[in-house]
Amino acid sequence: MGRDCKICGSTKNLQAHHIAPARRFKTRYNPSNGVTLCKGCHCWEKWDYEVFKSMLVPKISQEVYDYWQTVSQGHRSYSVDELEAIKKKLQHVYEYLQENQR
Ligand SMILES: [Zn+2]
Repeated sequence: MGRDCKICGSTKNLQAHHIAPARRFKTRYNPSNGVTLCKGCHCWEKWDYEVFKSMLVPKISQEVYDYWQTVSQGHRSYSVDELEAIKKKLQHVYEYLQENQR
Protein backbone atom coordinates (compact mmCIF):
# COMPACT_ATOMS: atom_id res chain seq x y z
CA MET A 1 0.00 0.00 0.00
CA GLY A 2 1.19 3.45 -0.79
CA ARG A 3 1.27 6.50 1.41
CA ASP A 4 -0.59 8.74 -0.96
CA CYS A 5 -3.67 8.66 -3.16
CA LYS A 6 -2.96 6.74 -6.35
CA ILE A 7 -5.22 9.07 -8.34
CA CYS A 8 -4.51 12.60 -7.09
CA GLY A 9 -1.50 12.17 -4.81
CA SER A 10 -3.21 13.51 -1.69
CA THR A 11 -1.83 12.25 1.61
CA LYS A 12 -4.98 13.03 3.61
CA ASN A 13 -8.01 10.85 4.39
CA LEU A 14 -6.51 7.78 2.80
CA GLN A 15 -8.52 4.62 2.36
CA ALA A 16 -7.90 1.23 0.85
CA HIS A 17 -9.83 0.54 -2.30
CA HIS A 18 -10.20 -3.12 -3.11
CA ILE A 19 -10.11 -3.48 -6.84
CA ALA A 20 -11.90 -6.78 -6.48
CA PRO A 21 -13.69 -8.21 -3.44
CA ALA A 22 -10.91 -9.45 -1.17
CA ARG A 23 -12.80 -12.42 0.22
CA ARG A 24 -12.75 -14.20 -3.12
CA PHE A 25 -9.02 -14.52 -3.29
CA LYS A 26 -6.49 -16.88 -2.09
CA THR A 27 -3.98 -14.62 -0.44
CA ARG A 28 -0.95 -16.01 -2.20
CA TYR A 29 -2.30 -14.75 -5.51
CA ASN A 30 -3.28 -11.52 -3.90
CA PRO A 31 -0.22 -9.65 -2.74
CA SER A 32 -1.88 -6.32 -3.16
CA ASN A 33 -5.49 -6.28 -4.25
CA GLY A 34 -5.65 -2.84 -2.83
CA VAL A 35 -5.00 0.66 -4.02
CA THR A 36 -4.54 3.61 -1.71
CA LEU A 37 -7.03 6.36 -2.49
CA CYS A 38 -8.06 9.50 -0.66
CA LYS A 39 -11.66 9.78 0.49
CA GLY A 40 -12.46 12.31 -2.22
CA CYS A 41 -11.32 10.12 -5.09
CA HIS A 42 -12.75 6.97 -3.53
CA CYS A 43 -16.21 8.55 -3.36
CA TRP A 44 -16.39 8.54 -7.12
CA GLU A 45 -16.68 4.78 -7.02
CA LYS A 46 -20.20 5.17 -5.64
CA TRP A 47 -21.10 8.45 -7.31
CA ASP A 48 -20.22 7.47 -10.84
CA TYR A 49 -18.33 4.27 -11.46
CA GLU A 50 -17.48 5.16 -15.06
CA VAL A 51 -15.79 8.36 -13.92
CA PHE A 52 -14.04 6.49 -11.16
CA LYS A 53 -12.82 3.86 -13.60
CA SER A 54 -11.55 6.51 -16.00
CA MET A 55 -9.52 8.06 -13.18
CA LEU A 56 -8.20 4.80 -11.78
CA VAL A 57 -7.40 2.74 -14.87
CA PRO A 58 -4.70 5.06 -16.29
CA LYS A 59 -2.98 4.95 -12.88
CA ILE A 60 -2.94 1.21 -12.38
CA SER A 61 -2.95 0.23 -16.10
CA GLN A 62 -5.74 -1.39 -18.09
CA GLU A 63 -4.01 -4.72 -17.85
CA VAL A 64 -4.02 -4.75 -14.07
CA TYR A 65 -7.64 -3.58 -13.96
CA ASP A 66 -8.73 -6.29 -16.40
CA TYR A 67 -6.87 -8.89 -14.43
CA TRP A 68 -8.72 -8.08 -11.23
CA GLN A 69 -12.01 -7.99 -13.10
CA THR A 70 -11.30 -11.42 -14.52
CA VAL A 71 -10.40 -13.05 -11.25
CA SER A 72 -13.19 -11.29 -9.34
CA GLN A 73 -15.78 -13.03 -11.46
CA GLY A 74 -15.09 -15.92 -9.18
CA HIS A 75 -16.13 -19.50 -9.54
CA ARG A 76 -16.09 -20.79 -13.04
CA SER A 77 -13.96 -23.19 -14.98
CA TYR A 78 -11.30 -22.13 -17.41
CA SER A 79 -9.96 -23.71 -20.55
CA VAL A 80 -6.23 -24.36 -20.82
CA ASP A 81 -5.90 -21.37 -23.17
CA GLU A 82 -7.66 -19.11 -20.70
CA LEU A 83 -5.45 -20.34 -17.90
CA GLU A 84 -2.36 -19.65 -19.98
CA ALA A 85 -3.64 -16.13 -20.65
CA ILE A 86 -4.33 -15.59 -16.95
CA LYS A 87 -0.88 -16.90 -16.09
CA LYS A 88 0.68 -14.33 -18.44
CA LYS A 89 -1.41 -11.54 -16.93
CA LEU A 90 -0.52 -12.68 -13.46
CA GLN A 91 3.13 -12.35 -14.36
CA HIS A 92 2.55 -8.80 -15.59
CA VAL A 93 0.64 -7.95 -12.44
CA TYR A 94 3.37 -9.43 -10.31
CA GLU A 95 6.00 -7.35 -12.12
CA TYR A 96 3.81 -4.29 -11.79
CA LEU A 97 3.46 -4.82 -8.05
CA GLN A 98 7.18 -5.40 -7.63
CA GLU A 99 7.92 -2.13 -9.38
CA ASN A 100 5.34 -0.18 -7.43
CA GLN A 101 5.90 -1.44 -3.95
CA ARG A 102 7.27 1.08 -1.52
ZN1 LIG B 1 -7.32 11.38 -4.34
